[in-house]
Amino acid sequence: MNVDPVAIARDLLRCPSVTPEEGGALAYLERVLKSAGFEVHRLIFAEPGTAPVGNLFARIGAGHPYLMFAGHTDVVPAGDAAKWSHPPFSGEIADGTLFGRGAVDMKGAVACAVAAVLDHLQANSGKPKGAISFLITGDEEGVAVNGSVKLLRWAAEHGEKFDHCILGEPTNPKSLGDMIKIGRRGSLNASLIVTGTQGHVAYPDLADNPIRGLMTIMTALLAEPLDHGSAHFDPSNLEFTTIDIGNKTVNLIPGEASARFNVRYNDCHSATALKTLVEARAHKAAKDRIRWRIAWDASNADVFLTAPGPFVDLVSGAIADITRRKPALSTSGGTSDARFIKDYCPVIEFGLVNATMHAIDERVATADLVALTSIYRRLLDRYFA
Ligand SMILES: [Zn+2]
Repeated sequence: MNVDPVAIARDLLRCPSVTPEEGGALAYLERVLKSAGFEVHRLIFAEPGTAPVGNLFARIGAGHPYLMFAGHTDVVPAGDAAKWSHPPFSGEIADGTLFGRGAVDMKGAVACAVAAVLDHLQANSGKPKGAISFLITGDEEGVAVNGSVKLLRWAAEHGEKFDHCILGEPTNPKSLGDMIKIGRRGSLNASLIVTGTQGHVAYPDLADNPIRGLMTIMTALLAEPLDHGSAHFDPSNLEFTTIDIGNKTVNLIPGEASARFNVRYNDCHSATALKTLVEARAHKAAKDRIRWRIAWDASNADVFLTAPGPFVDLVSGAIADITRRKPALSTSGGTSDARFIKDYCPVIEFGLVNATMHAIDERVATADLVALTSIYRRLLDRYFA
């Protein structure tokens, strides 16, 4: 390999790009990609009430096939820097391990993708047989409104028609080659609110305690599974996260009680169908006796699946070639920017080992950076064969 992914990863880790700061990371990528012949656009997106965020779009070549690498260079804060064995933005290497905030989530994988693409281009007289782009956001770890959503829309408006996407989020639980993500569960948040009648605790017949009703509906919502899973997904899950009454008075029956819950749902449901199902169960439990309502938060995290097929096989094959392991096809974990990308093209996630993401001493084995670069490189050779 002629391009060193470890050097690129170090340079990126030295940029203090805590969301929404660009920290020099996108400027660095702009330089590297421009000198390899990419057309590079730096785009700052903003919205009232949110910090403006820098993003980068770069393309080389034209036509099809068209492979896009997606990722982010923003990172979560380091936490207490004194607790790190190496300063979090120093990019220090010790015993074959590169330390730094973003090492696995996900500057390391961005570095590997850049190194693999540059290497592929060098071996193919500087141009792909089709097109390759990088869609890099600085707004993944934050509220994610000035990042991939707007960047994808911008790219579509400028005529970019991606065929496939690799998103380099850290997907492997223990070692490189464990797992690729071929989809993600949807996520919905809501409040269950029960209204009663406030009164004196010694005269309950004059009041209507909403806590009783809240407990009845909560119990009903937890009693039955939402489904039993599907071919590629675990069963959906409804989880209560807080119960809020806020009543500090010992002799008062409160007038209202509420609870927050989150549902992680699979492809047995659409968001609309799931809301109907949950509300039907609440309605049945309430029996016209309990005054209740569910307030659903707006959600931009729908369930999706990139069905197994030639593209999944191509990625799995490249991983197997380099690691000698067959990755599990998973839809587990939280949401990622793949939830936005899937509206434009099929997307698969494969990156580094996720064990230290967001942790003190986030780190990556330099051997993993080299291996992931080889995997991406193999994938590029096959994709453009
Ligand atoms: Zn990430």
